[in-house]
Amino acid sequence: MQTIVLGSGNPLPDPERAGPSTLVRTELGDLLFDCGRGVLMRAAAAGSSAGALRGLFLTHLHSDHTTDLNDIITSRWVTSFQPHPLPVFGPLGSIALLQATEAMLEVDVGYRLAHHADLQWRPSADVTECERGLVVEEGSVRVTAAPTDHAPVRPTVGYRIDEGETSVVIAGDTVPCPGLDELCAGADMLVHTVVRRDLIEPIGLARLLDVLDYHSSVEDAARTAARNDIDTLLLTHLVPAPQPGTEDEWVALAQEHFSGRVVVAKDLLSLEVTRSA
Ligand SMILES: [Zn+2]
Ligand SMILES: [Zn+2]
Repeated sequence: MQTIVLGSGNPLPDPERAGPSTLVRTELGDLLFDCGRGVLMRAAAAGSSAGALRGLFLTHLHSDHTTDLNDIITSRWVTSFQPHPLPVFGPLGSIALLQATEAMLEVDVGYRLAHHADLQWRPSADVTECERGLVVEEGSVRVTAAPTDHAPVRPTVGYRIDEGETSVVIAGDTVPCPGLDELCAGADMLVHTVVRRDLIEPIGLARLLDVLDYHSSVEDAARTAARNDIDTLLLTHLVPAPQPGTEDEWVALAQEHFSGRVVVAKDLLSLEVTRSA
């Protein structure tokens, strides 16, 4: 199993970092977690595509995590030669989001249906809203969801992907919480959104300070990893985006609380998920 960071950025457009999105490559196929800005450009660089996705999993419906949903829907549709519904899993509200996205695309769908004689079907998605428990089980791959805490954004979920003996957890945006601990218990890798409290507080801008309310700091994520015997902590969705050359600061902050491996994400970073001792 491989974890590939497609987008390590935050809501602010960044030439080096696409919006939050992580690809987990399993025996079952490519599982995509969130679909922020530029996701399909990065997927192409990783040898994946909208048509290749075995599933799209949404952690929550904040726009930075869902911006390019419409691109996935359209690209999958126009590159398929038979109906190829997109399996989507996400918190309550995901069905409405998909319906609204399909409605937004209606004019374009009409143009293409009228123009391509061999395209006789509409784009479609099979959406499963989930809160807790097993959401996919096929072959050696299992995906489990549990509620996270990104209040006042509700509901939000994290996911754990198990393939045989190895496991990776996608935390999404959350503060430390029991649901995340459930997913993390004994997992090999934790992919976690983090903010730098020490950099944001001195700026003193109210809208930026609000961000601290509902995200984990680097230290919070490190404590979650330590508490749950995680092997590798992958810091992503970095707020603020690290100045080049300062990545070691992020690692050092995490290592004050966690003795495992700490990796700072950049786009297209690929890590093999291996079993910890
Ligand atoms: Zn969020
Ligand atoms: Zn976010």
